[in-house]
Amino acid sequence: GYDDTRGDYYLIQNDHIHYRYEILCVLGKGSFGQVAKCLDHKTNRIVALKIIRNKKRFEKQGMVEVKVLDKLRKEDEDDKYNLVHMLDYFQFRGHLCFTFELLGNNLYEWLKSGGFRGVNLEVCRNFSAQMLHCLNLLKEVKIIHCDLKPENVLLCDVANKQPQSKDTHRGERGYSATHNPSDFDGPEYKIKIIDFGSSCYESEKIYTYVQSRFYRSPEVILGISYSSAIDMWSLGCILVELYTGYPLFPGENEHEQLLCIMEIFGLPSMNLVDRGTRKKTYFDSNGTVKLVVNSKGKKRKPGSKSLSSILKNCDPLFIDFIEKCLEWDPEKRMTPLGALRHDWIKEYHSNKYMQQQFFSEKKMPTSANFVSYRESKGSFP
Ligand code: ATP
Ligand code: MG
Ligand code: MG
Repeated sequence: GYDDTRGDYYLIQNDHIHYRYEILCVLGKGSFGQVAKCLDHKTNRIVALKIIRNKKRFEKQGMVEVKVLDKLRKEDEDDKYNLVHMLDYFQFRGHLCFTFELLGNNLYEWLKSGGFRGVNLEVCRNFSAQMLHCLNLLKEVKIIHCDLKPENVLLCDVANKQPQSKDTHRGERGYSATHNPSDFDGPEYKIKIIDFGSSCYESEKIYTYVQSRFYRSPEVILGISYSSAIDMWSLGCILVELYTGYPLFPGENEHEQLLCIMEIFGLPSMNLVDRGTRKKTYFDSNGTVKLVVNSKGKKRKPGSKSLSSILKNCDPLFIDFIEKCLEWDPEKRMTPLGALRHDWIKEYHSNKYMQQQFFSEKKMPTSANFVSYRESKGSFP
């Protein structure tokens, strides 16, 4: 049989998929399907196989994923845009399947392996530049990723990956510790953006509600029509999380998510709020924001926290960069091109060829003691 307790997930066992892919172990599970490490007997290559749940809605979105991945592999023949490459796709026992090049740990697992201590600013900058290359290409070809989060950014180094065992894939993910946050002296990490399973063309948006909660942009929360600027919002959230080890806006629900943003950035302009179809959910008839208490009894007050207190003692250029990613108004938010030209990133580019020296001279402290917990992985929808 190929039904597990969730009904529409493919039941992974000792199996050959499509008379070709021998399942070796499970690499991950998301809301759309599962990913297994496989030996491709045709090419003798190890690949990652994503098996989509066999429900209409997931399959429909899966077809969009195929279309986007196919477009992107044509745009990136030289493999320089930091995005995952699809090798093949097919239908198997009612499940849509894709194969990909095998990659390593995702950034959430990686942060976890380092005890959520966060990484230094040089690693943040390196990752930021790589993600921006991808986002810049996406913007050029008018594709919105719609689900950028640490789980969807993978290290290319597969050597340290400790896969889940086949029979414990529903339990805790057991990855070995592979990163030492206090220094950065190893080879340069390469990353790739994966999971185009929520993506869309700017002109063909299917859903009004996208992104995983912690990384969800204010326009999506407020119900304003969105654009590729939502990916820049998520990028800002991811970079802070990489630096501190914890999500910047850990909202327990939609309403608290908006309050988390306000807690740091104050109230948005009423012009922006007025454009939102969901205004009444968050504001009363006088235009006053409705405050809510979370499960720990905490009531977040607009403007009561600051970004610089979260990013203690760090490069002011980094803070400026983050503020420009986390601009309320999507029209005013920094674009991928603007970001690649920002001094915080430019400095990296100009020093690219002197990295050894650069990294040893400018080691930044990592932020510890920022205590918060990821209660929910808050996946879309
Ligand atoms: P989501 O819930 O984020 O929508 P999803 O169901 O769309 O997830 P993916 O994000 O594509 O699934 O994959 C789930 C997980 O599997 C990833 O977070 C990653 O850890 C692992 N994974 C995916 N692709 C690869 C790959 N090419 N190599 C190694 N691991 C991978
Ligand atoms: Mg995913
Ligand atoms: Mg997905």
